[in-house]
Amino acid sequence: MKLQRDYKFWFCTGSQDLYGDECLKNVAEHSRIIVEQLNKSGKLPFEVVLKPTLITNELIRKTFNEANIDEDCAGVIVWCHTFSPAKSWILGLQEYRKPLLHLHTQFNEEIPYDTIDMDFMNENQSAHGDREWGHMVTRMGIERKVVVGHWDSDAVKDKIASWMRTAIGIVESSHVRVMRVADNMRNVAVTEGDKVEAQLKFGWEVDAYPVNEIAEAVGAVSESDTNALVDEYYDKYEILLEGRDADEFKRHVAVQAQIEIGFERFLEEKNYQAIVTHFGDLGALKQLPGLAIQRLMEKGYGFGAEGDWKVAAMVRIMKLMSAGMKDAKGTSMLEDYTYNLVPGKEGILQAHMLEICPSISEGPISIKCQPLSMGDREDPARLVFTSKEGSGIATSLIDLGNRFRLIINSVDCKKVEKPMPKLPVATAFWTPQPDFATGCEAWILAGGAHHTAFSYDVTAEQMGDWAAAMGIEAVYIDNNTNIRDFKKDLMLGNVVFGK
Ligand code: MN
Repeated sequence: MKLQRDYKFWFCTGSQDLYGDECLKNVAEHSRIIVEQLNKSGKLPFEVVLKPTLITNELIRKTFNEANIDEDCAGVIVWCHTFSPAKSWILGLQEYRKPLLHLHTQFNEEIPYDTIDMDFMNENQSAHGDREWGHMVTRMGIERKVVVGHWDSDAVKDKIASWMRTAIGIVESSHVRVMRVADNMRNVAVTEGDKVEAQLKFGWEVDAYPVNEIAEAVGAVSESDTNALVDEYYDKYEILLEGRDADEFKRHVAVQAQIEIGFERFLEEKNYQAIVTHFGDLGALKQLPGLAIQRLMEKGYGFGAEGDWKVAAMVRIMKLMSAGMKDAKGTSMLEDYTYNLVPGKEGILQAHMLEICPSISEGPISIKCQPLSMGDREDPARLVFTSKEGSGIATSLIDLGNRFRLIINSVDCKKVEKPMPKLPVATAFWTPQPDFATGCEAWILAGGAHHTAFSYDVTAEQMGDWAAAMGIEAVYIDNNTNIRDFKKDLMLGNVVFGK
């Protein structure tokens, strides 16, 4: 998927006029070189734009407000080359509303032992200027990322690149609009949530539509458009008839093609980027949207099943954060389904009734038509595949009544030992970190859901930073987790956010 906006990040250098024009000229020149080299490196997913050196209260305030207004600006990177008295930054920082990165670097990598004098020291004193600036940002309680190291090192560029993707998740969050074409599944608790609070915290708009309104849009899709998409499916995927009549099979597939086109047109027309459905509330739809939803997720739409709008929005956010990433391995909604408890081979089989995004697949993708064990519709067509190996994160955003908590579990994805020829759904299989028992125990203690927004490409650090920017609690379950300390994390959350 591609982002709709050509985002840029502003580079603002802090200084002062105490050391004269010559020094300021050098400061500006150093900043120019840094920005030029960062852009040339090919490591950053977005362009960095150099701004004039910030010295006065007026210019700082003006620059931050311009950053707020500029829709293409996704964040500001600040570095204090010399000492920049931080009181000058108060008004600008108070009014600034976008992601902030403090790049704690200096122009020279090495101390110039033979030539260093006091002029050099005064000109190159970020060790001291950045502490003054950091003090003010901390005092003001502003959430920001701090990246430390020489600007030309790969480690620093990688950290900036990673933060840029977090920033996209932050600025795009308030543009996520979720369409619910059914309510929450009856009696289910964890998929519920306070939609007003979600809009306050994340900026999400979550709206309901009668299912038959979208079913009408599906019905309006022409046979020729539908058949063209069916042809595309038949070119792209393996067809597994499994004894079914070929024409009947194709008619089932066509139902999903019509749903894909109808849903996409409806979502586009009404400007929604995520959708939830419910197998028990399908109105005039002939099948539960399976293949159709899988394809929409692959195009970048968020999705949640059984009315789970929180997962739909999170899948969308994580797809935005990984958009355009080289060698991306995929992002999807998943559901913890069943366990392998054999010692040494423990893991969770991930699947859903149908709706898993093919972006996480590895190997051939086939279409099957099989009955659903739930609901009362035609046997839906779906894409069936297995998923990639490697590490990823499973996230669950839950509503605890008084607050949201984001649970972030690092997981190790594996191949299952044997094929599962009778299982007509896409799957993934993982062992949660730090190990199966501890990972599951921590997840359950934290109140994590069975539905997750999963990604191979977005990191736990990025999601934790995203949560911090949203002002919500985040807990991590990874190789550093032990239950005794994890319970303290949860207690700390209760203290900070209230129980
Ligand atoms: Mn489900």
